[in-house]
Amino acid sequence: MSEQYDFDLFTIGAGSGGVRASRVAAAHGAKVAIAEEHRVGGTCVIRGCVPKKMLVYGAHFAEDLKDARNFGWKTENCEFDWAVLRDNVLKDVDRLEGAYTDTLENHDVTIFHERAEISGPHEITLASGKKVTAKYILIATGARPRLPECEGAEHAITSNEAFHLDKLPGRIIIAGGGYIANEFAGIFNEFGSKVTLVNRSDKLLRGYDPALVDRLLQISIMKGIEFKFNTKFEYIKPCEDGGYFVKLTDCDEERVDQVMFATGRVPNVEGLGLDKAGIELGDNGEIKVDRFSKTNVDHIYAVGDVTDRVQLTPVAIREGQAFADTVFGGHDPLAVDHSCIPSAVFSHPPIAAVGMTEGEAKNKLGSVKIYQSDFRPMKNVLAGRNERSLFKMVCDGESGEIVGIHMIAPEAAEMMQAAAIAVKAGLTKADFDSTTAIHPTMAEELVLMR
Ligand code: NDP
Repeated sequence: MSEQYDFDLFTIGAGSGGVRASRVAAAHGAKVAIAEEHRVGGTCVIRGCVPKKMLVYGAHFAEDLKDARNFGWKTENCEFDWAVLRDNVLKDVDRLEGAYTDTLENHDVTIFHERAEISGPHEITLASGKKVTAKYILIATGARPRLPECEGAEHAITSNEAFHLDKLPGRIIIAGGGYIANEFAGIFNEFGSKVTLVNRSDKLLRGYDPALVDRLLQISIMKGIEFKFNTKFEYIKPCEDGGYFVKLTDCDEERVDQVMFATGRVPNVEGLGLDKAGIELGDNGEIKVDRFSKTNVDHIYAVGDVTDRVQLTPVAIREGQAFADTVFGGHDPLAVDHSCIPSAVFSHPPIAAVGMTEGEAKNKLGSVKIYQSDFRPMKNVLAGRNERSLFKMVCDGESGEIVGIHMIAPEAAEMMQAAAIAVKAGLTKADFDSTTAIHPTMAEELVLMR
């Protein structure tokens, strides 16, 4: 396309957003390069969603094997070997990194396995000292775990390290009350670790419907996870046997094997030359962009977690795709619709949601109608597992349009993906009611709610 520059597009960061944007731009005929200082695939593939979900599957066997007894299976001599799961997961991560690399190479995207920094309006300097120029620059550098300040914070691990542990901790404290804290609390607990989740407030999973969060809290406590709210870390001190002494405010010092921080993520903006390029940052250090992912500098764009809009992989992918289609595909500018995004927390059991919570809908619409189903899944009944699921549907009180669906149930995320289409399409409770149930399923509750 451009003869004035070495590349039409230079992408910094080969995570979900950067890879999608680069591949699609190349497919549109652009000459593309991408730089990645860690591993191709980024957080989701290398140290996030994908390996985490594999651990969730692995953890679930603990319950399945217990439940299997009431279904006639003898499972007494089953043992769990962390090293086997860890190594298999890491092997699959290697495979996926290869697949992502192949995708880029198959589209003739030049990959620089090193750090890149913007050094001039259209110039990028690589860690090796090599300089290249590009007509457009895309920043897709993601985010990293936030480390709260306390004495000895450097002794804590984050989700980054959790996938590489030599052995499972007998006793672990997890800081945070969000996605990662609840997911890893479930994972470690199922593997047999004694887990305490510590949060600075008494709110877990902010943004999710409180009724579902309460249900998760009840079930988590029943499973043996301990919770401490409204407390902070005073110190983490190593002890001689390899563990740590931990002191929380208003609590006695205790000894644990591991401390993990899951206290949000901060955008990766340092050392990228953003100040030299004159790129504006927001209050949380995120790159400010418009609806089309364009920064305040005309030819520099940013997608994904570094923009701190919605920190979810599928959103970064959509932003990357929209950017590439807009800039290189000859489309009218495409903006990603950030409303009504379905999401899930892969806790034990998982929570999934789309649209407004009851509280949000009341504030926005005034009149709302709530339908609920609180039930014990058939499998849990036979298994002797006393865990109830909860589905909640939030409708506009006037029109009957469904504005939110919330579920805590086994396989909630799988069911939610389909339900989210209906919510996004603006269907009503009457549309759901007119759909015949598939019996016996948990999902049938969606069309039977009262
Ligand atoms: P979350 O934003 O989900 O939760 C952060 C938690 O840490 C909150 O409980 C928050 O408390 C607390 N916190 C924030 N700052 C501090 C601090 N300085 N000291 C102590 N506690 C603090 O973050 P996660 O780290 O769990 O996950 C990061 C993001 O990654 C998520 O927001 C999500 O977008 C994404 N993610 C998505 C997953 C999925 O889709 N299943 C899985 C994992 C991550 P408070 O509520 O009081 O602010």
